[in-house]
Amino acid sequence: MRVDVLTLFPEMFAGVFGSSILGKAQEKGIVALNAINFREYSGNKHGTVDDTPYGGGGGMVLKPEPIFAAVEAVLEGKHGDAGAKTRSPRVILMCPQGEAFTQKKAEELAAEEHLIFICGHYEGYDERIREHLVTDEISIGDYVLTGGELPAMVVIDSVTRLLPGVLGNEMSAVTDSFSTGMLEYPHYTRPAEFRGWKVPDILLSGHHANVEEWRRKEALRRTLLRRPDLLEKLELSPQDLKWLEQMKAHPPEIKD
Ligand code: SAM
Repeated sequence: MRVDVLTLFPEMFAGVFGSSILGKAQEKGIVALNAINFREYSGNKHGTVDDTPYGGGGGMVLKPEPIFAAVEAVLEGKHGDAGAKTRSPRVILMCPQGEAFTQKKAEELAAEEHLIFICGHYEGYDERIREHLVTDEISIGDYVLTGGELPAMVVIDSVTRLLPGVLGNEMSAVTDSFSTGMLEYPHYTRPAEFRGWKVPDILLSGHHANVEEWRRKEALRRTLLRRPDLLEKLELSPQDLKWLEQMKAHPPEIKD
């Protein structure tokens, strides 16, 4: 996968793109992550990319020309990407007014070959960018950040870890919270007893089927307690429904 990020602060991406799983995914050639300063495409000698809003009011608005020009340069392969011309990338505007980002959206984007992210700053974007350039608008939550860089990193991280070969065998996205439609079951590691707090006996039993059953039940319990809304969208087995009924009849302190 190829990912281009259009930003006024490309230096913010160096640490995140070069470290940990994202850094390794690049080394393995699974993903190419590239941050581009769209000020290069300002088209004026002062490098101006924003202007005051028509109609007055506070804040500055990002002009359309630099962002259109930067996207077109990426599509023409001017950023070291020979294959760019053959693809139709998703062009994603990071924006608090966009669709709420979810694991489902991450899975959808992970199936693409090429993503272009646009990171805003200041008050907002010229509306023509939204209307005529982008394919998706994504918000990472109902709060406002100073710029689209952190939100773009959030989306890129969650998409990259879903690409085949990125997570090793020891880590799997399959059982992650939300991938299964519910929250993940609790985890424990050694020691079996820490400050008097014991790991549930069943996890030490070596009985695979019982462990799987316990995990399923605990995932249901956690989802019921923390995010009951998720259960409404889930296809549940008759056994799941029975467990849920028992949990509802005997709230939290009942453990099995
Ligand atoms: N005036 C804008 C509004 O009310 O929608 C907010 C602009 S915000 C200060 C500047 C930029 O930060 C946005 O253009 C967007 O790129 C990014 N941003 C801020 N909060 C975000 C969020 N929750 N999700 C995605 N991007 C966000």
